[in-house]
Amino acid sequence: MKTDFKTLKELHEYYAVHNSCELKKVATQPVYETSIPSSGILFIGEAPGRNEDLQGRPFVGAAGKFLDELLKSIGYSRDEVYVSNVVKYRPPNNREPQEEEKDACRIWLNAELLFIKPRVIVTLGRHALGRFVPGASITAFHGQSFEHPTGIPVFAMYHPAAALYNPNLREVLKKDFIALKNFLDKRPKVSKAKQEEIDAILKL
Ligand code: URA
Repeated sequence: MKTDFKTLKELHEYYAVHNSCELKKVATQPVYETSIPSSGILFIGEAPGRNEDLQGRPFVGAAGKFLDELLKSIGYSRDEVYVSNVVKYRPPNNREPQEEEKDACRIWLNAELLFIKPRVIVTLGRHALGRFVPGASITAFHGQSFEHPTGIPVFAMYHPAAALYNPNLREVLKKDFIALKNFLDKRPKVSKAKQEEIDAILKL
């Protein structure tokens, strides 16, 4: 896996060429962000929708607006965090991403993780949760954190889009964001030694 990039933009431009995701044949463009988050918080969604496909940026539609609202409720602005997706291209008609599409984008997301070295990964929805904690149920585990083998904590959330169709989930998400804030407030920043250990595992 190539990892020696100077900037996130360079990383994305490389993986936009070097990936075998079939969705690139039907999508307008890959979707990604290029600034390192000052908070160290990395959110991972499922796959881009129509607005994202047109603009090339993640979470810019209705789900993104709700995500911005949730972030604001715990004192963060959107540009302090980083948002990515398990799959970088829009699936036709917003269908769920398939296993081969998730697999094809796997090294791209791994390279992003290595570059950003997040303090915490917040998974939005079941596809992102399954990527880090295989077999975990979002219904049972939303609002809770897991220690990933790399040492990076993973915090499980429902996808904000789910709350657009199910108003009960709006309140659940608001509560889970407060739990995330409490978790972040208690958690010390990763030490340099621990970070080196995490880097070594991520490179395997
Ligand atoms: N939903 C996602 O999972 N990702 C986006 O970028 C937008 C909507």
